[in-house]
Amino acid sequence: MSSSINPRLTRRLTRLTRLTAASALTLAMSTALSPAWAAGPGREAPKPGAHTAGDPLFTYLGNGGYDVESYDIRYDYRPGTLKMDSSVRITATAKQALSGFSLDSAVEHVGSVSVQGEPAAFRVSGEKLLVTPRHALREGRRFRVEISYRVDRGQNPPSPSYPPGTHIIDHWINKPDGFALMGQPDRAHMFFPCDDRPSDKARFTFRITTPKNLQAVAIGTLRSRVTTGDRTTSTYAGRDLVPTHVVQAAVGHFTMTTARGPHGLPIRSYIATDRYKAAKPRVDDIPGQVAWMEKRLGRRFPYTAYGVLGVPGDYDGVALESATLSTFSVEGLTRPAPDIAPTMIHELAHQYFGDAVSVRNWNDMWISEGHADYYQLLYSVDKGYHRLDDILKQRYEFEFGKRVESGPPARLKTAADVLTGGNNGGVLMLAGLRQQVGDAVFTRIERAFFDRYRGTSATTRDYIDMANKISGRDLTAYIEGWLYSDTVPPMPGHPDWTAPQAQKTS
Ligand SMILES: [Zn+2]
Repeated sequence: MSSSINPRLTRRLTRLTRLTAASALTLAMSTALSPAWAAGPGREAPKPGAHTAGDPLFTYLGNGGYDVESYDIRYDYRPGTLKMDSSVRITATAKQALSGFSLDSAVEHVGSVSVQGEPAAFRVSGEKLLVTPRHALREGRRFRVEISYRVDRGQNPPSPSYPPGTHIIDHWINKPDGFALMGQPDRAHMFFPCDDRPSDKARFTFRITTPKNLQAVAIGTLRSRVTTGDRTTSTYAGRDLVPTHVVQAAVGHFTMTTARGPHGLPIRSYIATDRYKAAKPRVDDIPGQVAWMEKRLGRRFPYTAYGVLGVPGDYDGVALESATLSTFSVEGLTRPAPDIAPTMIHELAHQYFGDAVSVRNWNDMWISEGHADYYQLLYSVDKGYHRLDDILKQRYEFEFGKRVESGPPARLKTAADVLTGGNNGGVLMLAGLRQQVGDAVFTRIERAFFDRYRGTSATTRDYIDMANKISGRDLTAYIEGWLYSDTVPPMPGHPDWTAPQAQKTS
């Protein structure tokens, strides 16, 4: 995400108070065995999968015992109501013998659940949907779950992990003629029941039915558009592995534009129709931006398509790295290049770092945001919008207050700090690392890290290990100082930089 176009967001985040007690979620679930599953020699008796993934910040989030391969989501959009009849078909693999499993779910109502085509027992507890299939699932078994449910786009419950009373942004973004999604960090399960941890990536299909005069768009590629009577169903699908928090699906009046990027990369964007002409110059910049990023990192764009979605009016005042289709307020896309192109590079860089390489835990979010800010910064310097040392010095001085407010980048104070807490310290650590090892070695670290973890997820430790291995030096103390320390380390190459005047006394 980028909040550089929303100063309010940063201010709002400063008012948050520290979450002092994380309430442990305890959920009971039936462990009844099906007759076929009497435990035998060498065979584990089926048990329910874990009800959380153990994330230190979002203690309730994620589920264990299975790994999702794909989600196939249907929405039935009707004007005049905020409710949508919906369904999801999930394909997953059991990682253990499962007598039951849970999904993250904050949808309005669950109507039915089936597993392998057979009705399954289920109940909802908080933001968990607990499912007990008729027959236990063998370890290694690929299985199918179908859930029919209803969403209410008028409900925007904050994360259970946020400090009480915290409301940062809306996640259902409603428009007079439709909607868009903003699932980061842990709200995708308001849109569909899922394993909502950032490390369980999957392939997505969206089938959205609308009145035929409206357009539905989503991540992936348009596969079909079928009109029956006055209703049209648009289907978007892709082979790319995407974390749940960066999916996008939207309905409205959009104009589509297509282009080719480097190596023939298909580029398609959907722009709110009444602002299409004004946004077109920035949309036309995208192939060149992808070429810049590919050259800078030395790696091809990681997904099978790219482009932007320009939603009408506001989009929480932010931009989001929705995979294959970054989301912006269309008004942002009508601005001059020096104002918005760096943010476009930020979301483009996230396609590599954050989407293709996702974070294992939310405390690793600096890997995503630090890299996005870093390439954004390099682009600004490359284009002559700013001088490198000017931006770094500003960011260095900002870091003293930011660290007090949000904690160190990889040990954030609260779950609410995930959205912007790791950006600044992350980019300073990376810039200082480049200063120490030189541009050539730094770029080799970046490439090796991307190559090793694309398609999967990475931790802070993984980045440190890769930096040490590629550089042949022990950079652990340097990197850990930036990511885990309560105090701001000295800036490599700039020993004269200090805390801003007002904060020097303490
Ligand atoms: Zn970002």
